[in-house]
Amino acid sequence: MPQLGRLVSDLGPDKVLLDRPDRVLYRYDAIAEGEVPLAVALPERTEDVAALVRWSRASGVPLVPRGAASGLSGGSVPVTESVVVAFTRMRELRIDPGARLAEAQPGVVTVEVSEAAAAYDLYYPPDPASHKQSTLGGNLAENAGGPQCFKKGVTGDYVHALEWVDAEGKVRRATREAHDLVGLLVGSEGTLGLITRAWLRLEPRPKHTRTLAAYFGDVGAAAQAASRAIAAGVVPAKLEFMDGACLRAVEDAFRIGLPRDAAAMLLVDTDGDDLEIVEEELELVAAACREAGGRVQRAGDAQEAGRLWQARRAVSAALGRIHPHRMNEDIVVPRSKLAEVVRRIHELGEASPWPLVQFGHIGDGNLHPNILYDARETPHEEVHELAHAIARVALEHGGVISGEHGIGLTKRAFLAEALPEPTLSALRRVKRAFDPESRFNPGKVLP
Ligand SMILES: Cc1cc2nc3c(=O)[nH]c(=O)nc-3n(C[C@H](O)[C@H](O)[C@H](O)COP(=O)(O)OP(=O)(O)OC[C@H]3O[C@@H](n4cnc5c(N)ncnc54)[C@H](O)[C@@H]3O)c2cc1C
Repeated sequence: MPQLGRLVSDLGPDKVLLDRPDRVLYRYDAIAEGEVPLAVALPERTEDVAALVRWSRASGVPLVPRGAASGLSGGSVPVTESVVVAFTRMRELRIDPGARLAEAQPGVVTVEVSEAAAAYDLYYPPDPASHKQSTLGGNLAENAGGPQCFKKGVTGDYVHALEWVDAEGKVRRATREAHDLVGLLVGSEGTLGLITRAWLRLEPRPKHTRTLAAYFGDVGAAAQAASRAIAAGVVPAKLEFMDGACLRAVEDAFRIGLPRDAAAMLLVDTDGDDLEIVEEELELVAAACREAGGRVQRAGDAQEAGRLWQARRAVSAALGRIHPHRMNEDIVVPRSKLAEVVRRIHELGEASPWPLVQFGHIGDGNLHPNILYDARETPHEEVHELAHAIARVALEHGGVISGEHGIGLTKRAFLAEALPEPTLSALRRVKRAFDPESRFNPGKVLP
């Protein structure tokens, strides 16, 4: 393709991958497989990104932004002839303790922000379970959540300002003033513009944290306990859920010492600067768990708490040992409906030929039902039907089909059912206003 020669001369040969074995690696994210890109661009600074967009305008070849490809909705996977823009070389990070801000390029790995801020007793609260792999660019584009987001808020709540490149190749700055451009760009899944820098708010670390695990004989009872704890007025720092199948998968893989006979587990942290209040809140959660029939185990020390959290972080890896493929749903339902929804999904799983497991940030009403299967034996369409049934359960209970993983490619087909036509049409107009020729991440999000 002659335009690729121009791309190499515009950007420099060391910033473009053209060999097929290199390009093939960029057709995947953590869940989906797309087309092999025509080329992979590896920009190092904002000017490179602007040059890429200008090249895209001239050549007509779309751009697909990509962070670490840990995404779970196929967002960074090309679906048309495109060039992938991999931001992994843009890794500058500077902490300004006075302003309590981190200034970062999009390729910075999420956990690195808190690691760098720790020198000033500060941290960056958004903590996707993938924080050791995912990048800030991906987090911003998906408005990533995580265990701490129940109390602390999601990625978008920590954005002070953004620098981004628009569809004309111009470098712009988005702030919260007047029309909230930050609010539009965060969560836009790479479809409105390319984020090249972010100024992120940091917070002082809470002085005390306490942890408990509670085990239940019934999935619905665990969900009920979560709702009760919150209704009692506690806002735990983290409130996570795993069903019995997840517990057993983790135990088989990592021998952490989890009970194999439990139907569900809640994992809870309370935190703050006043130890008395932190302890009191943990006791209120423990009481809600016991009332719902749970067996409560308080972590005796930080080591034990770390071991319990290791169990939660290990779920995805452990599930991969059961079947090589999974369809990862990301529904959110009102907390008052959690028990009913968790039970309904459990029933769908019992009637299905494939294991259907559930875990998630239950404090936020955010559940990840995962269908485990082997794509070499199972037609994708059949699994898709079950995923659709799960999405419908969420919608019937007043919920939504994505809390944090985005719509991307894999949930695009459900969006028309999830949103009314006037809303879809407004979203299409926003897309056209930002990207009239659909050069940014085509084939994603909007049906
Ligand atoms: C084990 C595991 C656990 C996970 N846990 C969580 C969790 O707790 N919470 C959560 O929210 N997610 C979670 N995820 C999903 C995933 O890690 C997040 O969606 C993350 O934000 C993606 O970051 P990434 O750098 O990998 O982005 P990618 O997957 O590469 O891309 C994601 C999206 O961002 C766009 N994008 C990337 N960079 C830019 C940029 N600079 N400008 C514009 N658009 C851009 C891409 O086009 C794509 O649409 C998990 C994934 C795994 C595998």
